[in-house]
Amino acid sequence: MKAMVLNQIYSLQEKQNPLELVDLPDPTPKEKEILVRVLTCGVCHTELDEIEGRTPPSRFPLVLGHQIVGRVEKAGSRAMKFRSGDRVGIGWIGSACGKCRFCLEGNENLCPEFKATGRDINGGYAQYTTVQEEFAYAIPGIFSNLEAAPLLCAGAIGYRSLRLTGMEGGKNLGLIGFGASAHLVIQLAKHKYPNSKIFVFARTERERNFAKELGAFWAGDIGDDSPEKLEYAIDTTPAWKPIVEGMKNLEKGGRLVINAIRKEEIDKESLLKLDYAQHLWQEKEIKSVANVARNDVGEFLQLAAKIPLRPEVQEFRLEEANQALLELKQKKIRGAKVLRID
Ligand SMILES: [Zn+2]
Ligand SMILES: [Zn+2]
Repeated sequence: MKAMVLNQIYSLQEKQNPLELVDLPDPTPKEKEILVRVLTCGVCHTELDEIEGRTPPSRFPLVLGHQIVGRVEKAGSRAMKFRSGDRVGIGWIGSACGKCRFCLEGNENLCPEFKATGRDINGGYAQYTTVQEEFAYAIPGIFSNLEAAPLLCAGAIGYRSLRLTGMEGGKNLGLIGFGASAHLVIQLAKHKYPNSKIFVFARTERERNFAKELGAFWAGDIGDDSPEKLEYAIDTTPAWKPIVEGMKNLEKGGRLVINAIRKEEIDKESLLKLDYAQHLWQEKEIKSVANVARNDVGEFLQLAAKIPLRPEVQEFRLEEANQALLELKQKKIRGAKVLRID
C-alpha cells in the first residue's frame, strides 16, 4: 500500500517535507481487529506536534493521522461488530486496556496503557489501516467521507470539552480561540442550549466574523473584557495568556476547560499575572480535557448527524500531505484539511 511515513523528528523550519511516500505491505488484522481501506483522513495540529517532537511518536517509521474514514475490507477471526463494506471512523483513541479503573469508568482516555492512533500505532495517511473493532465507529450516512473526517477529532474533543464544563442551558459560554474545534462547538452548544449566549474571543477579524455568522452573541479579541460574565469557558489556544484573560471573565463558581494537548512555553510568564483575588477566588475552576474516550466519539457522531453539523473542509491528495501540514503550520486555514485517499 501507499503510505506517507514519518521516519524521525524534524523541525519544520528546516524540513518542509517531513513525510516520505513509501510502499508498505498491507497490514493484516489481528483476531479482534478490522482491516480498513482508508477513504479520507483529516490533518490535525497534533501531527505538527508529533513531527516536531512535542508529542513524540513512540515508534518509527510511523504512519500519522487520527481522523480516519474508511470501509471495512476484512474482519479478524473474532471481530463481529462490522461487516465488510461498512463505513467506519477511527479517532485519536486507538486502544486502551479495558480493565483499569479509568477504562471501567468510561474514561479510557486516561488509561495508563492508552495508545493513540497515528502516534503509537499506524494511522490513516495510507491506503489501509487496522484497528481493534471496539475502537471504530459507524459513520452516520448524512456525512460525506470528507465531512466526517474532522468530526472524529476536532468535533469529538469539542463535545467532551463542552460536556466537562458541566454546562446548563440559559447560562453563558465563552469560547477562547476559534479554530477547528470551536467552530463545531458553537454549533453543538447552539443546538443543545438554545437559550444560552455564546461569547467568542479570537485574534483575527476573520475568525470573529465567522463566529458571528455561526451565531455568537458577541465576538471580541482574546484580551477583551466580556460584556457579561461567563459561567463556562472553553480555551482551545496553545498559549497561557488566554487562560488568564479567560479567568478574568469567568463568573463566580464558573469553570474554564482547557482543550489543548500542550501549552507553549513561549508566553509562560503570562501566568505570573494570574492573581488569586481576580482570577481564582470565589470558587472559579480550571480543568483540562485529555482528548477523548470512545463514548465521546460515538455520542458526538449521532448528535452531529441530528443537528446536522457542517464542517468546512479543504481537500488534498495523500501525496500532498506535506503541503497540507505546511499550510497548517503557516496558519493558512480555510476549514479543516482532509486527505482524500483512493
Ligand atoms: Zn487531532
Ligand atoms: Zn485501562
